[in-house]
Amino acid sequence: MERRTDKRCPFCGEGLREEAVFCRYCNRDLEDEEFLRSRVRVRQMAMLLLAIFGIGVLLALIGSLR
Ligand SMILES: [Zn+2]
Repeated sequence: MERRTDKRCPFCGEGLREEAVFCRYCNRDLEDEEFLRSRVRVRQMAMLLLAIFGIGVLLALIGSLR
């Protein structure tokens, strides 16, 4: 019985096994793609937190001036 493929290569679109770390069709590293994507997410989250923190500091400054 053949195993069902749940994952696709983002580069060539071939079906891969869920636990595959590299594509056996185009030999690209799949972990790289996921790592880069997660790094972008972390950066977006950091920017959001920084913005919230900045607004908080600004409001505290405005409050202390009154
Ligand atoms: Zn591929």
